Amino acid sequence: MNGSGNTIFLRLSGLMQSWGTSSQFQIRRTDGYPSKSGVLGLLLCAMGVSRADSSRELEALRPLVMGVRVDRAGDSDWDYQTAGAKIGIRSADGKIKVTDSTGEFETLLSRRQYLYDASFLVALQGPTEVIQACSDALEDPVWPVFLGRKSCIPSEPILTGTGDFHDIHQALSSIPWQGRPGEIGRFGEGFEVTLKAYIEHTDLSTPPPIDVRIVHDVPRTFGFHSHDARSVISDTVIAPVLMPPRRVAPGSRTRRVDYSSAQWREARLIRLESDDYLCVFCKSEAREVHHVTYENVGEETNADLRSLCRICHDACTMLEYGRDLRLRRVDPSAPEQRGEILAQITKILSERRMGRRRELLETSRLTRSDLSDVAPAG
Ligand SMILES: [Zn+2]
Repeated sequence: MNGSGNTIFLRLSGLMQSWGTSSQFQIRRTDGYPSKSGVLGLLLCAMGVSRADSSRELEALRPLVMGVRVDRAGDSDWDYQTAGAKIGIRSADGKIKVTDSTGEFETLLSRRQYLYDASFLVALQGPTEVIQACSDALEDPVWPVFLGRKSCIPSEPILTGTGDFHDIHQALSSIPWQGRPGEIGRFGEGFEVTLKAYIEHTDLSTPPPIDVRIVHDVPRTFGFHSHDARSVISDTVIAPVLMPPRRVAPGSRTRRVDYSSAQWREARLIRLESDDYLCVFCKSEAREVHHVTYENVGEETNADLRSLCRICHDACTMLEYGRDLRLRRVDPSAPEQRGEILAQITKILSERRMGRRRELLETSRLTRSDLSDVAPAG
């Protein structure tokens, strides 16, 4: 999706996340859903803006209205963490802290809470140019982005898309639910689910509903921790259920060729005719057409295809086996691949000769044993 519209969607999903708004020092809790300070911090990272001089960007980001949809709440658990054991922790005055009773370097102990296997859909709404800037930054982040703490790595791209929506509620209802595959399977496609959502209440003309929560998570500045309050309403949204796409590594996506389609039949014919029905490798009669790239599956151009005879095609296909070629394939008209293809053809031919010899041998044995079964006459 291109970055145009008043709303941007962020997918915050990962093995671990932690969105603390209330804790300090040794015990660090996470809230059950992403905080505004965490999300704005993530955007600043993507923009490559350091916390110390983020005031200009923050001024633009703070007014964005935020809504969070809980697609998977995840489980929460605590991690007991030590830092600086035997090497010490530097205190504010620059000295290394020492335990009075033992004289040894002090170890910093903390208990940190995390959400495991959670997935949230965040929508931010505001002026188009701010949304565009966020989208651009997430498309190509300057610094690594993380889910609340640096150790919490996103498990998929954060930028989910942008669009124009009447309000946050409508926006959060537009994107398919990301449940666990098993959960989605129980519903099936075409169904809808009701999901929990936390939506910022900004309409000051109406009194906030009863279940409003005041959250102090709107950063005034990232230089030192100081936050403004906002009102967050616990709500629900209805989201469509869509079967998840099969996961494949980026770049390895090979769309299946529909060999029965009229488009493929035509692309194939054009290639064969422009090659005069001759194999581009050995110039014998060509009846097959080979892809040198899968980049344009469904709308192949002549440059994506090569006419081949059966054996040369087999050789090219066999060379592709087990190789991580991604979209680019073996190209029989590339001079640098000629030697390799020729060696493969020789191998196929010698295997076929061996096969044929074995076949003949089997037949002759059979013939002999057949003969021996025949009782001698007389
Ligand atoms: Zn050939």
